[in-house]
Amino acid sequence: MEAKQKAVQVTELLEEKFGIPPRDNVMDPLSALILTVLSQSTNDKNRDHAYRRLREKYPNWEEVMNGDVNIIADAIRPGGLANQKSERIKAILKWIKDEYGSLNLDSLCDMDTDAIIEKFTQLKGVGVKTISVVMMFSCGIDIFPVDTHVHRICRRLGFLPEKATAEKTFWVMRPLVPKGKSYSLHMNFLKLGRTICFARKPKCEICPVSGVCEFYLRKKDDINSE
Ligand code: SF4
Repeated sequence: MEAKQKAVQVTELLEEKFGIPPRDNVMDPLSALILTVLSQSTNDKNRDHAYRRLREKYPNWEEVMNGDVNIIADAIRPGGLANQKSERIKAILKWIKDEYGSLNLDSLCDMDTDAIIEKFTQLKGVGVKTISVVMMFSCGIDIFPVDTHVHRICRRLGFLPEKATAEKTFWVMRPLVPKGKSYSLHMNFLKLGRTICFARKPKCEICPVSGVCEFYLRKKDDINSE
């Protein structure tokens, strides 16, 4: 099956199974960017804990930008990699202040998507996943972020070879995702990854997209040839 057609089918099958995901409360782009930096190498619970502690310690971003790197690190410690993240967050905030004149990124939502990617991925700690998460969640832009679940599922489905990087997956999937469906497919892949397509021992027998999944078809062939 052609990849684009397959992406349409997968999107529809997942919407049938999980529904069309509602949009949650929208966070402003700068807060979303810092939250996403905090999410690196940790889970949502620890990320949120670290973010809450940071906001309690420093109610505005100006204070974080000027804050002591060690005190910031202490505040965000529950999210892991605290020293590295605290340096990066300060550097990102300084760069935004220099570039935009204030600690506000609302204008991001009116900029060209490719220009945003090019500009922000030059920052340490901001990859294509981070900035696409901000664009999708905060600006409602139709862009498809590739996190660890999305990366694994896209490769298992056969959109890319097993060895493809997450960044490569982002660029390959970008033109394949049906127009207007990035949010739905991203959220439903997350749901699939958390409930059925586990990294270890995926529950393929109850998976709504097993009929078009190369990983599953290979597994079935192996069992049949035994
Ligand atoms: S069939 Fe299995 S490997 Fe394929 S997407 Fe579903 S759970 Fe994942």
